[in-house]
Amino acid sequence: MAARTLRIGLIPGDGIGKEVIPAGRRILEALPASLKLKFEFVDLQAGFQTFEETGVALPDKTVEILKKECDGALFGAVSSPSKAVKGYSSPIVALRKKLDLYANVRPVKSVMTAANPIDMVIVRENTEDLYVKEERTYDAADGSGKVAEAIKRISERASSRIATMAGEIALRRQKIRDSGAASIHSSPLVTITHKSNVLSQTDGLFRTTAREALAAARFSSVGVEEQIVDSMVYKLFRQPETYDVIVAPNLYGDILSDGAAALVGSLGLVPSANVGEGFAIGEPCHGSAPDIMGKDIANPIATLRSVAVMLEFLNEELAAAKIYAAVDANLEEGRLLSPDLGGTAKTSEIVEDILRRL
Ligand code: ATP
Ligand code: MG
Repeated sequence: MAARTLRIGLIPGDGIGKEVIPAGRRILEALPASLKLKFEFVDLQAGFQTFEETGVALPDKTVEILKKECDGALFGAVSSPSKAVKGYSSPIVALRKKLDLYANVRPVKSVMTAANPIDMVIVRENTEDLYVKEERTYDAADGSGKVAEAIKRISERASSRIATMAGEIALRRQKIRDSGAASIHSSPLVTITHKSNVLSQTDGLFRTTAREALAAARFSSVGVEEQIVDSMVYKLFRQPETYDVIVAPNLYGDILSDGAAALVGSLGLVPSANVGEGFAIGEPCHGSAPDIMGKDIANPIATLRSVAVMLEFLNEELAAAKIYAAVDANLEEGRLLSPDLGGTAKTSEIVEDILRRL
């Protein structure tokens, strides 16, 4: 079999992004030759520093190269300026739009040996809902002051494709379990999250469309349940082990995924990917963490796992599984942990340890 070559754009961005993205590159280069995978890398610019240097946070060239030349990308983090800066807006939000990366996929997993093991994936719709940012402010007709309102837009197309992706992810996770991987789940389950008891039209449409998409014959082995988002939060904190795949509209997904990240102990552990048709950008969930930058103490695991999530969506599940396993082995041994997990290991030592385990 000929080797497959994947061309990966590297966008370190700001702060600790510059420390963790090189680790992501190294783990790709260290994958065993038996996988018959080759990588080419393209260094790309985006972020607040890029904005300060060039006047744009996301240069056209970066978008063009990603679109024309790359199979996937890794994105580090961008600093958000403490107050609004004229002309600056988040480059990753813009990238999601320009590349139609309609899903944000966030696996949240503890080590198997944890007292209360967790292993879930949150699949967040990434293009609509309140994030269409159509807001307006006006004076109330009765003279009682200003009124502000925002559009919450939900479409059948976006709801259907995000639910379908959740179903596919549930099937893929089951396939990995069937191949003998240890797991706390025995069968695939998708939980649809909404608030259709109050928002019968918008969340109602999300709910019925997601249900329909998941009723497709190929998902017949996937269990489907629904949770109203408030009780979902309660259950997520009380019984996180129940969840396998959660699918949610944009805003609920945003909130649930940060909440779920808190369950596993550190932002430094939680990966994500922004996914569209045939393209994925791996991105650690944390920000640029200016408080720890330059000290070689950032936890690289969120990024290494983001590399794995990206690979899954580029249909390289075996390579992804190897990375997950190497990371899990490091965490389970617990000898080389970064300060956010209570250890004293340096970023570089952790990366070396995980590469060795590959
Ligand atoms: P930004 O504006 O870029 O989001 P922030 O100040 O909000 O920056 P975050 O990156 O969101 O910082 O991090 C929040 C907290 O979590 C910080 O105290 C940071 O040091 C810590 N943290 C984030 N990522 C990591 C990591 N990979 N390893 C260790 N600690 C981390
Ligand atoms: Mg932050």
